Amino acid sequence: MILHIDMDYFFAQVEERENPRFSGKPLVVGAEPKEGRGRGVVSTCNYEARKYKIRSGMPISRAYKNCPDATFLPVNMKLYEGVSENISRIIESVTKNYEKVSLDEAYLDIKEIAKNYSTAERIGSDLKKLILERESLTCSVGVGENKMIAKIASESEKPDGLVIVKPCDSSRFIVSRSIREIPGIGPKTEKRLQEILSKGNLTVKDVRSISKEQLNSVFGKRGEDIYNRVRGVDDSQVVSEKKAKSIGREETFDKDTLDPEKIINTFRKIVAEVAEAAIEEDRKVKSIVVVCRSMEYETHTRQVSFGPQVIDFDFLYKKGVRLLLHLLTENSGPIRLIGVRVLFAVDD
Ligand SMILES: [Mg+2]
Repeated sequence: MILHIDMDYFFAQVEERENPRFSGKPLVVGAEPKEGRGRGVVSTCNYEARKYKIRSGMPISRAYKNCPDATFLPVNMKLYEGVSENISRIIESVTKNYEKVSLDEAYLDIKEIAKNYSTAERIGSDLKKLILERESLTCSVGVGENKMIAKIASESEKPDGLVIVKPCDSSRFIVSRSIREIPGIGPKTEKRLQEILSKGNLTVKDVRSISKEQLNSVFGKRGEDIYNRVRGVDDSQVVSEKKAKSIGREETFDKDTLDPEKIINTFRKIVAEVAEAAIEEDRKVKSIVVVCRSMEYETHTRQVSFGPQVIDFDFLYKKGVRLLLHLLTENSGPIRLIGVRVLFAVDD
């Protein structure tokens, strides 16, 4: 269960908040228009500006032509980054398991905190309320069974939307949408799909009529992805930035020791704890590090790396104990502390 949150017309909304006199009138944040001679593009604009057909990414000269009386502001990235950080802190108060995709957009994996879709709806509305109270900004939230459905849901009722799509409604929810509402399908892909079907204004339903083979022959590897997406299938995961790069345990002996039995028993115990934590994380491991601290507080480490794999106690113990033996033979004196750490594969 994924929640997608997207701030409404973010840069422009922040500027409205800072200067309420900008509200209710067309506001464009982006390059300097220089009375229509300016270069560069529109970053964001408010909804009043959109009435003049001004859009993000449009040349600023055109935006000026469409509405010369609009307020044009330069991009104040520092301000938006600060607000974005505040919003991240609010999101973190809901769950640490989130992926920020841009300054104004994030995916939250809420399957652990929402047992069902009505809880999810409450989480969504609480989050909106918190952001409004603390930052005086509106956002749109979508909840769905995967990232793609959640994103389409949050986009579907902007601004200030809250749309919950239960798994049983996913297919119905997307079937009548324009193909361009599917994330990852841009103007080029749309054009080639139109060519295949000899038809304009394609809906998701239209594209479903194209066979997997045909999509593969036109789009290569992407064909399968398009085939799945129009069927509501998306198994990409929420990649939390806060995900640990490694986990480990250390144990300090009551008294510095050379007792092999004591050392090996302690080592077994911490290996078991680390293995359990790694299994809990459900991620692949690429390296094991063993640490040994001597009586004189000298820290020695030994590391072994291998192809990313899921580990268990036996694997970790077998690899780790060899490192430990090396460390112990290198250090003749009593041991103060030993530790074991596993490093997770980065792209996991
Ligand atoms: Mg946005």
